[in-house]
Amino acid sequence: MRAVVRALGFAALLLRPAGVRAGGDDWHRSIDPARCDSAEAIEYPPTQRWIRHRLVPGESLAQVAARYGVREADLRAHNGIDSRVPTLVVGATLRVKARRVPPPRREVLYTAREGDSWASVARAHGVSSKQLRAHHYTRERGWHAPLREGTALRIWVDPVVHDWLRAGRPDDTIARGGVGIGAPDTGELRHGVAIPEGEGYTLRFPDASFGTSHAVGELVRALADFRARTDYEGTLELGTMSREHGGALGDHRSHRTGRDLDIALPRRVDVPGWMPLTPRRVDWRALWDLALALAEVDATVVYLDYTLQRDFYRAMRAEGVGDEALRRILQYPRGHKANLGLVRHAPGHDTHVHVRFGCGPCETECIELGAWAGGPAR
Ligand SMILES: [Zn+2]
Repeated sequence: MRAVVRALGFAALLLRPAGVRAGGDDWHRSIDPARCDSAEAIEYPPTQRWIRHRLVPGESLAQVAARYGVREADLRAHNGIDSRVPTLVVGATLRVKARRVPPPRREVLYTAREGDSWASVARAHGVSSKQLRAHHYTRERGWHAPLREGTALRIWVDPVVHDWLRAGRPDDTIARGGVGIGAPDTGELRHGVAIPEGEGYTLRFPDASFGTSHAVGELVRALADFRARTDYEGTLELGTMSREHGGALGDHRSHRTGRDLDIALPRRVDVPGWMPLTPRRVDWRALWDLALALAEVDATVVYLDYTLQRDFYRAMRAEGVGDEALRRILQYPRGHKANLGLVRHAPGHDTHVHVRFGCGPCETECIELGAWAGGPAR
């Protein structure tokens, strides 16, 4: 097991030296507040360390678990919480065997101004709108009353996310504040950012084309790089990413935290759209160019069925691509379980690739891989 973890860490190191932390465990690989305008630091103890966490208004168990990099089941077990109900008493203290320790939440007082809504105030402070509303619920106001000017709000912000938002610049091309909570197959997305329209690609499902600020930013960079390096004249078809607030999506197993995106295999331009996509009809060179572009950004893995990887490999060999580049990009021919290459096997991914992006540097509650959820993505 240790060897496997090592190999995984080593592969990640080869691909992206920049954001990798020592230790081989890559569940928090790219979270680094030094890169996100925050003065606050996140501590990563060398081994799991017991700490106490006092629940602030609106926090859920899942969120607290993600924050400290532990399983929700362990958090429940350590605190004798049996119930499936995720809401807990504010002010209660939990014992947590933390893998990471972000700075504690901070209370910010805010008086609602003209034009504010629950959603806009939540977005500006990096907290959940639902939680903000719940925290300020009164029986007289009820659940659905709009936020009134002059209402005094007490908002428990995450200092890292809050600083990052406050440092926003007018020339930011991608909105800040879109963060993933938890792992790709169990978590959610907060303040999802829509993939912008652009040249050379289309959005097949606009309602499910939301991601974290980081993932959308990295995607846009990769798409621009792809356009610059490819001769492909077709249009890339972007499929499902996440819904605006993430969570479960159709029969997809992941796609919950705004970091997963399906992209249809690029079709040869001489193959009409109505024809079923078979390996011979794929423009492998275009896919190669896309993979190279993704390898330059914070894409942690690209899933493609192993048998298709064989076709991909052969096509690229025939085009004269060298062994070193093939090894760097493709898992094939080293076995469908090998922790090698950017492109990895996942069954059923034979008409599209599934790209997973890393956690953004300011995403204190993001879990990089479904490290303990197990199994490949869908
Ligand atoms: Zn997928």
